[in-house]
Amino acid sequence: MNKIRSLCIVLGDQLSHNSLIWSHFDSKSDIVWMGEVMSESLKPQSSMQRTAIFFSAMRHFCEELRQKKITVEYIEINDGRKDFIAALEETMVNYDIEYFTCVIPGDFRVYELLNNFFKKKEKKINWLEEINFIARKNEFNDWIKKYKQPRMEYWYRYIRKSRKVLLEDNGKPIGGKWNFDLSNRKSFNKSGPQLTREPLKFKPDKITKKVISDIEKKLPNLPGHASKFYWAVTREQALKVLQDFIKYRLNLYGDYQDAMWTGKPWLYHSLISSSLNLKLLNPEEVIKAVEQAYHKKKIPLNAAEGFIRQIIGWREYIHGLYWLHSDIWMSRNNLKAKRTLPDFYWTGKTKMQCMSESINQVIEYGYGHHIQRLMVTGLFSLLYGVKPSEIHEWYLSMFVDAVAWVEVPNTIGMSQYADGGIVGSKPYIASGAYINRMSNYCKGCHYDAKSAIGDKACPFTTLYWHFVYKNKNLLKNNPRLSMQVKNWDNKEKNIQNEIIERSKKIFSNIELY
Ligand SMILES: Cc1cc2nc3c(=O)[nH]c(=O)nc-3n(C[C@H](O)[C@H](O)[C@H](O)COP(=O)(O)OP(=O)(O)OC[C@H]3O[C@@H](n4cnc5c(N)ncnc54)[C@H](O)[C@@H]3O)c2cc1C
Ligand code: SF4
Repeated sequence: MNKIRSLCIVLGDQLSHNSLIWSHFDSKSDIVWMGEVMSESLKPQSSMQRTAIFFSAMRHFCEELRQKKITVEYIEINDGRKDFIAALEETMVNYDIEYFTCVIPGDFRVYELLNNFFKKKEKKINWLEEINFIARKNEFNDWIKKYKQPRMEYWYRYIRKSRKVLLEDNGKPIGGKWNFDLSNRKSFNKSGPQLTREPLKFKPDKITKKVISDIEKKLPNLPGHASKFYWAVTREQALKVLQDFIKYRLNLYGDYQDAMWTGKPWLYHSLISSSLNLKLLNPEEVIKAVEQAYHKKKIPLNAAEGFIRQIIGWREYIHGLYWLHSDIWMSRNNLKAKRTLPDFYWTGKTKMQCMSESINQVIEYGYGHHIQRLMVTGLFSLLYGVKPSEIHEWYLSMFVDAVAWVEVPNTIGMSQYADGGIVGSKPYIASGAYINRMSNYCKGCHYDAKSAIGDKACPFTTLYWHFVYKNKNLLKNNPRLSMQVKNWDNKEKNIQNEIIERSKKIFSNIELY
């Protein structure tokens, strides 16, 4: 049996050469352990695209470590290991291990699983902090204590000030304001987005091709497909994606960050979330590169600010909240939603054009931008009343950037308001009119965005009013939504009844819509 000091576990979303694990690593006495295990792709199911990006990035990272003469014990999906525990137990047969080392996983469930395992085995595990964020957990926890009702905006300003991001020497925000959100909500005119270039894509190399064929053999029933797999799977590629975004799309990112258009999945978005979440990129380097582009006058301020807000604002805030409430998210169902996720989330087969576009795009590429996630697929689930656990599983399964710490608060919190207000102060609700304003989806749709009643009534619009009616008590106390309650109350009784009746029809036979 080989005697080693530490078995250093590197999980699929910890592929950084800049992780704390390397300052503890001694190649003479330690080895790295990486594992592709069945359960992480099956419970819940992880789509072909998502599974492929994880496995491919892991295998590429393993190669890079081996080139540095680091010993890696790598378990492939072909080895058929059921779960982390089975895979680790097998490794433990071959090695006499003094202790284990691992960066804290991005999923509380995996953290608990490993902790319990090592406790049971009476083995020491040395947990290290994930340093590929701008703020450490302690900093977030200390900061949030000061607020009765913390909000992302306060956090965002705090980070901008403390890290001197887009700041004048006198500590004021460059451009005189912290937020350019109001100029960042444009939709396209009739001619649509004037995109001249496709984003950078990477054709699968030998490793990725092998990964895809392994998945197709070992996990043939995963949702979606990987026939159009172009994601960055190495740090080198991720840096190119970032540069491509800054050079060709960032200038209009701010203007059109909320807009949607048929057949245009990428628009002006960065497509770096998967690279950030796999830790191929570090958020600090992303912010620096964007700030630099602004100072060199390559991009306008509203684009730089709008983008930086997503990273140091939303991304870091969501990360802090996930860990602060790590054990409660999955038990939350504030609105008592009880319906099953409609099947069309998995097939894309629906007459609702906005849903069909957004879902088919996810099936094809594992990607949807924020407004598609929040104000199309998420909004429909909220209005229809899908159980939070089911819509959470869908988001975790289908998107290439899905990791629990970021997916869970966004889905359970921001999108479904199942957390009762941890992430946002109100549910994000809208009728079909919002989608009509922000996209051209409604043009080709079977339904009419303006109508809440009648055969052509848009299901979003009908269910929007039904949601207002059902949640009057919650909404009437919110200054930003109380007006909608008044609008409902002002509707004629027979219109209200028709909306309620049509909603019942939708609830009883959703797959027809
Ligand atoms: C229901 C729902 C589920 C989501 N699930 C995930 C997920 O599993 N993984 C994930 O990375 N993001 C998730 N998001 C946030 C956001 O939609 C994606 O980060 C973004 O669409 C990724 O595409 P992009 O890289 O092109 O983003 P861009 O629009 O170019 O934004 C830049 C970056 O900002 C960060 N960002 C923006 N918004 C958020 C946010 N709300 N939370 C955290 N980071 C943010 C991302 O890192 C993103 O790469 C979810 C949002 C919703 C509403
Ligand atoms: S009419 Fe309604 S269902 Fe159709 S695309 Fe517009 S918002 Fe979606």
